[in-house]
Amino acid sequence: MSEVVELLQQLIRLDTTNPPGNETAAAELLRGYLEAAGAECELYARVPERANLVARIRGTGDGPSLALLSHTDVVLADASEWQRDPFGGELVDDEVWGRGALDMKCEVAASAVAMATLAREGWRGAGDLVLVAAADEEVGDGFGLEWLVEAHPDAVRTEYSVNEGAGDRVVIGDRVAYLCAVGEKMTSPFLLRVRGRSGHASMPSIADNALVKAAPLIERLGRFTVEPQLVPEVEAFFRVTLGRVPSAAEALATAKAASPLAGELVEPLLGMTVSPTKARASEKRNVVPAVCEIEIDVRLLPGQSPADAEAALRACLGAGDYELVPLPRHGGTRSEIGGPLWAAGESFVAAEEPGAVLAPICVAGFTDSHWVRDAFGTVAYGFFPARTMEPELAARLIHSADERVPVADVELGLRWLLHAARTVCG
Ligand SMILES: [Zn+2]
Repeated sequence: MSEVVELLQQLIRLDTTNPPGNETAAAELLRGYLEAAGAECELYARVPERANLVARIRGTGDGPSLALLSHTDVVLADASEWQRDPFGGELVDDEVWGRGALDMKCEVAASAVAMATLAREGWRGAGDLVLVAAADEEVGDGFGLEWLVEAHPDAVRTEYSVNEGAGDRVVIGDRVAYLCAVGEKMTSPFLLRVRGRSGHASMPSIADNALVKAAPLIERLGRFTVEPQLVPEVEAFFRVTLGRVPSAAEALATAKAASPLAGELVEPLLGMTVSPTKARASEKRNVVPAVCEIEIDVRLLPGQSPADAEAALRACLGAGDYELVPLPRHGGTRSEIGGPLWAAGESFVAAEEPGAVLAPICVAGFTDSHWVRDAFGTVAYGFFPARTMEPELAARLIHSADERVPVADVELGLRWLLHAARTVCG
């Protein structure tokens, strides 16, 4: 059995469900494996049971550095929903089963095997090759990369990095494309507060029900739309996959005509999205609420600010008797398209599948790439190629029951990381 499959199975068998995490078990396993191969390793931990592993092959110092970023924690698995033990790491019909098989112990294992392979060869790049297997990505309580970039910046600062986020093989028009995540939307939620006057629910006419006053505002938010716009990442996506860039107004129809999946990829990237999701009013059935609070999930395009979001929300809600309070925002960074890491992705894809192209995309969710982009200006891409499992199936299995990964995709990912290290670190 291949080394990367065996390491992936060992990682899955360590229960690193977050919370509580217990990622130190995974960090220790990786340290033992990588030190035996000759890589330098260091554990960094805010609390002993939640260690991050940083491993390194030092370069000669005159080339760019590259980090292979990953996280070792996983989300909860309810064994009763699974056909197999979520922590069994079983190999069945050339697929490795278990929580984290896709998100993202496959890439942890491939990163470690890539580094071990290079270390055993005696390979040394011009720049450092760094492996960061971080804790606490799934919850983000400040034990993982967010903490590392603050507390130990020198350990994790690199010019380039490869992380999770994309890599799926998709067919768009007559092109085969592998998706590479170059940016992410910012989550910039708001609280909408409406005030009234409380009273006994048996006498509604003398109270002023804040919940009822909020209702028309919620309806307006439900109808929120914006004029579509094209960010550079979406322009590049069209240029690479279709060979032309449609107008912003025609972008969605053009993408949908090329493939339903392209429509799904492009639609959230044409403008900010607004979804009212949480409501709070009276705690007691017999008390008319004096205050109603609605939480609004707002996702911004790269380059948009919370001030843009507030202006759009006020335009949607109209003038009226309400307060709009910004809540803590998250993410929203991008990396340039181009340079040595992008070129490495292009040459890898072309070699693996002649005629296929590397297509940029922004993700609507959040990854640890944000922290290194924000702290160091690292060019961080989410790219771990996959072509054996259908992207629709992979999307359904992540954070769900029966998560599993084809061995062929893990091996494809390993070849990519070796190629990236050799070409970027030079
Ligand atoms: Zn993940």
